[in-house]
Amino acid sequence: MKWFFQNKRIYADYASGTPIDQDVFSAMRPFIQKDSFNPQGLYKESRTVHTALENARRDVARLCGVTDKNVVFTSGGTEANMIAILSLYETVISSIPGTPKILVSSIEHPSVLGVVELLKKRGCEIISIPVTKEGIVDVSFIEKNLDTQTVLVIVMGANNEIGTVQPISRIGRIVRQFRKDTNSLYPYMHSDIVQMGNTHSVQLSGMHVDSIALSGSKIYGPKGSGVWVFQGAISPKSWFSGGTQEFGFRPGTHNVSACIGFARALVIAQKTYKSEYERLLELRKELYAQIQSALPDAVLIGSKKERLPHNLYLAFPNISAEQLVIELDARGVAVSSQSACSTGNGKVSHVLQAITGQDGILQEGIRISLGRNTTKKDILEIARAVKESVTKLYTDRNRFLPYEKNT
Ligand code: PLP
Repeated sequence: MKWFFQNKRIYADYASGTPIDQDVFSAMRPFIQKDSFNPQGLYKESRTVHTALENARRDVARLCGVTDKNVVFTSGGTEANMIAILSLYETVISSIPGTPKILVSSIEHPSVLGVVELLKKRGCEIISIPVTKEGIVDVSFIEKNLDTQTVLVIVMGANNEIGTVQPISRIGRIVRQFRKDTNSLYPYMHSDIVQMGNTHSVQLSGMHVDSIALSGSKIYGPKGSGVWVFQGAISPKSWFSGGTQEFGFRPGTHNVSACIGFARALVIAQKTYKSEYERLLELRKELYAQIQSALPDAVLIGSKKERLPHNLYLAFPNISAEQLVIELDARGVAVSSQSACSTGNGKVSHVLQAITGQDGILQEGIRISLGRNTTKKDILEIARAVKESVTKLYTDRNRFLPYEKNT
C-alpha cells in the first residue's frame, strides 16, 4: 500500500475503494504470470491452479461458517448481489401460488435495487421498507408485511453512503421465526455486507441471515472480485447457464488471481476486524469533534451510534457538497460527495430521499471514510482542510450573494 497516495495527499474515500494489500498482491501474482492456467483442465498445471482456487474457497467458507459448496466467487459485490437474489428467487418461485413478494430496504445499493426492479417487471410485487430519520430500517414494518407470499427479505448490513448499520440479526431472527411458524422454507434473507468486511465478523450464523455479498474492492483485495455466500440448508437454483464453473451459479472461466486475492484479503481483514473497529472509531470520533468545534453548523447525517466506525457523512448548510469535494481535493484530501457508484449520474441520492420521505430532500453532504492507512496526523489535516474549505465557500457565497439577488 506504500505507493498509494504519496506526496502528502490524504486518501479518505475507503468506502469507495481500498488500496490493495501487499500480501494480497503477492499471493495473486503467480496466478497472473506463471500459473495462469485454466483450473478446469485435467493436466498437472491446471490441477495445481484448481487446488489453489479450492483452498481459497475453503478459507472464505471457514470465515463465513459454511461449507465450501456454499461459496460462489463473483466479479464483485454487484454481481454477488445479482446472483444471490436471482438464484434465491429461482429456488422458491415455483412453490408460490399467486404473486410473489419481495421486501427490500429503501436504502439498498443500486446493484440490489436494479435486480429487484427487473423482478418487478416479471410480475413480482416489490415492497420498499422505509427507514427512520436516522437511516435505520423500520423493523416493525417488516414484521407487519411478512406473509406467505414473501419470497425474499433484503436488508443491507451497512449503508455505503451514510454508513448506518442495520439490525440485520434482529430481522434475520424474525424471518426465521416466521418460517418456523408457517412451517415454510422461505422467505430467505439476503444481506449485502460489502461495507462491513474490515470491521465486523462475516459469520453467517451470528447475523442470522441466509445469504451475504462481499466485495474484494472494499477489503484491500483486488477490484473485480467478490463472493456470494449462502447457508447450508438452502439448495439454490441457478438463474444462468452456459458453464459449470462456480457450481453453475457463475459460469465462465475463472479469474483465479482475483479469487485468490479476495480470499487472502478476507483472511487478513477478519484477523484484524475487532482492533480495526476500535482504532477507526477513535479516529472518527476525533475527526468529528475537531470539525464540530471549528464548524458548529456541520450536520451529521444518519445515526451517530449505529454507524460504521470509519464513516462520517456531513452536510454544511448552503454549501454544495460537490464544491466542497473540489476544495478539499485542492488541499490534498480525497473524499466523495456521494457513493462512488452514483457519482456522475446527476441524481439526488435515493438514500437521502428515503431518510426524509416525501416531504423533501436533505442537503447532500460529503462522505469522509477512513481506513488502514489513516493516522491521527491525517485526522488533524482533514479537519483543517474541511475548516478552510467550508470557510472559503461561505466567504465566496457571501461575496456573490448581492449579485445573485439582483439577477
Ligand atoms: N454493495 C455495496 C454496499 C457497495 O458499497 C458496493 C460498491 O460500492 C457494491 C455493493 C458493489 O460492489 P462492486 O463494486 O465490487 O461490484
